[in-house]
Amino acid sequence: EFISANDLSSLMDVSVNEVIKVCLNMGMFVSINQRLDAEAITVIADEFGYDVEFLSAEEEDTVIEVEDNEEDLQPRAPIVTIMGHVDHGKTSLLDYIRSASVAKGEAGGITQHIGAYDVMTKSGKRVTFLDTPGHEAFTAMRARGAKVTDIAIIVVAADDSVMPQTKEAINHAQAAGVPIVIALNKIDKPGANPDKVREELSVINVLVEEWGGKYQSQEVSAKTGLGIDDLLEKVLLEAEILELKANPDRNAIGTVIEASLDKGRGYVTTILVQTGTMRVGDIVLAGPHFGRVKAMTDHRGKKMKTAGPATPVQVLGLTGAPQAGDKIQVMETEREARELATQRQQLAREQSMRTKKHITLDEIGRRLAIGSFKELNVIVKGDVDGSVEALADSLLKLSTPEVAVNILSKGVGAISESDVLLASASDAIIIGFQVRPSLSARKLAEQEQIDIRLYSIIYNAINEVKDAMEGMLAPTV
Ligand code: GDP
Repeated sequence: EFISANDLSSLMDVSVNEVIKVCLNMGMFVSINQRLDAEAITVIADEFGYDVEFLSAEEEDTVIEVEDNEEDLQPRAPIVTIMGHVDHGKTSLLDYIRSASVAKGEAGGITQHIGAYDVMTKSGKRVTFLDTPGHEAFTAMRARGAKVTDIAIIVVAADDSVMPQTKEAINHAQAAGVPIVIALNKIDKPGANPDKVREELSVINVLVEEWGGKYQSQEVSAKTGLGIDDLLEKVLLEAEILELKANPDRNAIGTVIEASLDKGRGYVTTILVQTGTMRVGDIVLAGPHFGRVKAMTDHRGKKMKTAGPATPVQVLGLTGAPQAGDKIQVMETEREARELATQRQQLAREQSMRTKKHITLDEIGRRLAIGSFKELNVIVKGDVDGSVEALADSLLKLSTPEVAVNILSKGVGAISESDVLLASASDAIIIGFQVRPSLSARKLAEQEQIDIRLYSIIYNAINEVKDAMEGMLAPTV
C-alpha cells in the first residue's frame, strides 16, 4: 500500500470523487482515506492519463543524483571482470596482470588483494579489474542493483573445452548486456588447441572475429604472460566503442567491492569510485554506514589523497562494514550522513522480513492487462541438451507483439544458485525440465522469491507459459 485515494487525487489535480468513481467503474470500492496498492494506483492514474513511477524505499532516501552536463564528462577507464570455468585460469590471469603492473622495487613490489585494482597498459591507458573472479560474484552484485562491470573477459583453457561454467559466464555477461572478450588461456601448454575452442564457441553462437564473428579473442598464457598485453589492448578497443565517461569534478559516488574489520585499522572498505572524485576528509554514506575518509590506499599499499572515476581504493574511517554492491556517496555534512545511515538501518530491520517481489508466472497475465510488462525473461534448465533446445525454441516462439520472450540462459543440469541469482538480477522465471533445484538454490529462490517451475512434459511447460501470457493461467493453490 502506498498513498490514499485522497492523496492520489490531489497529485493528479482531480477531485477525490472522480477517483472514487473511476474505481467504482472498475469494480473497486474505495473510501477517501483508503490506501491503494501499486496496481490500483497504476490503473487509476492511467485512466487520468498519468504514468506512474514507483521508487523503492531505498531509492527514495538516496540523495538525488545530479545529472552531469555533457561538457563536464571526461573519458574514464573501463572496469573489467574475468569469468570462466573453474581451473581455466581466472585467478592466474588476474594475478599475472596485477603483479606485472607493479614495477620492481616499488613499495616493496608487493601487491595486496583488496578486491579490485587498476593497471596501466603498454599504450599508457588505464584498465580497472574487479578481483573477484567468476560470474557468481558478478551476478550477485547485479542482483543487488550494482552495475559495475563494463567489459567481461571470458577465459577458456585452450587445452580444454567450452565447459558448463563457460556457457554460464557467457550467459550472465550477455544477460547484463556487457561486451565480451575471449581469452584463450594456457596457450603455452603442449596440448593447447585454440581452434577447437573457437569452434566450440561458434556452436554456442559466439563467433570470434578471425572467423567473421563479432567477438574479439586473444591467445594468452597466464603463466608466461604471452599475449596479455594484446588482450588488454582488445579490452581497450571494446571500451572505446562504449565511450565510457564520468565527471571527475563532483562529489564521489561509487560501489562497495568488499569490506572487513581489521584489528588495528578498524573498518577497511574497498570501493570503486564511479563518478566524481573521493578525497581524504570526505564524509561518506555507504549502505547503512557512514564515516569520514581517514586514509585511502591503492592495491600497492600506496597512500592516495584523491581517487577519480573508475579508481579502486581501500578506504579507512567507516563506522561499519557495508555489503559488496552497496552504494557509497560523499555527503555534505556528517549530520546528514548519520541521519540517512540511521534511517537505512531502521528500514533494513523493517524490511528484513520482506524481500523484493519478482515476477511469477501467475502474475504475468495481470501485469500484461495493465500494460506494465513487455518482456518475459526465462531461464531454462533440463536433463539433456536436446530437450533444453526444443523447450527454449518453443518458448521463444511464444513471443507476441506485446511481450517478447527472452531466454536469458539455457543449460543442462540441476537448477543452481547461480541460476537463481541470474533470475533475481534480471527478474526472470526459471523453468526446469526433468531437473530439480539444488537445496541451496531452493533456499535462495525462496529468499529471493524467484518462481521456479518444474515440468516433466515439454508440452505442459509451453502451455502454461502460453496460458500465463494470455492471462488465463489457472491460479495455483
Ligand atoms: P581458476 O579456477 O579459473 O581461477 O584457475 P586458476 O587460475 O586457479 O588456474 C588453475 C590451474 O591452471 C593452476 O594450477 C594454474 O597454475 C594453471 N594455469 C593457469 N593459467 C595457466 C597458463 O596459462 N598456463 C599453464 N601452463 N598453466 C596455467
